[in-house]
Amino acid sequence: MIDLLFELSKKGSNKFSMPELDVPEVSVSAKRGTELDLPELPEVEVMRHYTALSRLVHGVEDGPYPLGSCTMKYNPKLNEVTASLDGFTGIHPLQPADTIKGCTEVLKLTHSALCGVLGMDAVSFQPAAGAHGEMTSLLVMHKYLQSIGQTQRTKIIVPDSSHGTNPASAVAAGFEVVTIPSYSNGMVDMDALKAAVGDDTAAMMLTNPNTLGIFDKQIAEMAKVVHAAGGLMYYDGANLNAIMGWARPGDMGFDIVHVNLHKTFSTPHGGGGPGSGPIACKKFLQAYLPYTELDYRQGVDAEKSIGKVKAFHGNFAVIVKALTYILALGAEGLKDASGKAVLNANYLFKQIASLYGEQYRHCMHEFVVSASKAGDDYGVHALDIAKAMLDEGIHPPTIYFPLIVKEAMMFEPTETESKESIDSLAKTMASIFSVAASNPDALHAAPLKAYIGRPDEVKAAKDMKVTAKF
Ligand SMILES: *Cc1c(COP(=O)(O)O)cnc(C)c1O
Repeated sequence: MIDLLFELSKKGSNKFSMPELDVPEVSVSAKRGTELDLPELPEVEVMRHYTALSRLVHGVEDGPYPLGSCTMKYNPKLNEVTASLDGFTGIHPLQPADTIKGCTEVLKLTHSALCGVLGMDAVSFQPAAGAHGEMTSLLVMHKYLQSIGQTQRTKIIVPDSSHGTNPASAVAAGFEVVTIPSYSNGMVDMDALKAAVGDDTAAMMLTNPNTLGIFDKQIAEMAKVVHAAGGLMYYDGANLNAIMGWARPGDMGFDIVHVNLHKTFSTPHGGGGPGSGPIACKKFLQAYLPYTELDYRQGVDAEKSIGKVKAFHGNFAVIVKALTYILALGAEGLKDASGKAVLNANYLFKQIASLYGEQYRHCMHEFVVSASKAGDDYGVHALDIAKAMLDEGIHPPTIYFPLIVKEAMMFEPTETESKESIDSLAKTMASIFSVAASNPDALHAAPLKAYIGRPDEVKAAKDMKVTAKF
């Protein structure tokens, strides 16, 4: 166990010197009533503490991180340089507009870049993450439908291959979810869609590529069916990494979309953010977007707008990082990045599919394989394989998701892994499978090298202890 800073604290050990006061001294603790109990340590001990903590986890800077659906690509350090410039960090959004022109320019440039990449007309940067963007978009659609007198439209159609946040957001926004099945090739069952649409359809939410890593070829037809029934089309664009520069949701018939800047547009994420999940829509929905005071975006209607979902422009530093990434790569570079993301996923899939007993299938930026053959043959499950990967210095793929595949393992290598790195990852997977055949118990015991072995995951999620007693 690593002790907490509070446990390591030794009174009087944090020696420091401050410049002499040139203002009257005010005692903060006098106002608090009680002394503030902060840990006291020398700077070097604080650094050792955090460095030790950083070694307990696996990051993309330690090794491959093929966590499907999360796009754990390498994030260029240049992003950090620009996001920490004084002109961005030392200002406040309530400053007079002519003193924050640089920030306004960042918003304008990112706004037009995102509209260009998505084929949309307007963007709101307020949502703090992907699921928040979904929720915000649903509120926008709800307000729009109300304003045109379509209050009976209470249902959201969600294919069973969608990301789990889609139905959750729809329920949170007060809609009813209608789940429709997929064909065995992973695409939406069109007959089920046609049977599901009607007067009560508010929208269809489509995750594309879906959670199987498949680009649904029937999108134009789906849009026609939903629009003909009077519903709207929502695109879950969290995984824009697969299509940016090649295809645009706006051209495919979608009315509104969210993107995850912290996936596709390279911001470090995991462990709780900060993220940014801007939404973009067609002109007819623009007036309903979250309202912000700084009118860099024409056409905001304070009466029609759903109001704020976060302060000002959301997580501004993440927008600076995204813009840095966009400008550094340029239009061709973005297209190349998604091209390589798809190539890498297909390359890895082709190398490891036979381990899983799967036939070759073309995928987009990620793919799903089932570990059920290893289960039947050796009693080794997706969880065992994932834990064994940790011992090899590789972050496991997403497991047991999507729910429609038994023993699912969802790999997303991303474009920032080299050919050599993917070859080595494939070799490691082959050696784990050979251990599965020769000594399955070794995999049941994995991980041996990780700081935490096999926690009770349900308890860890539902009975979280986030405070300590001193
Ligand atoms: C990650 C993801 C989300 C949710 O994004 P968060 O930022 O984690 O809220 C939604 N949809 C898809 C397809 C995703 O991959």
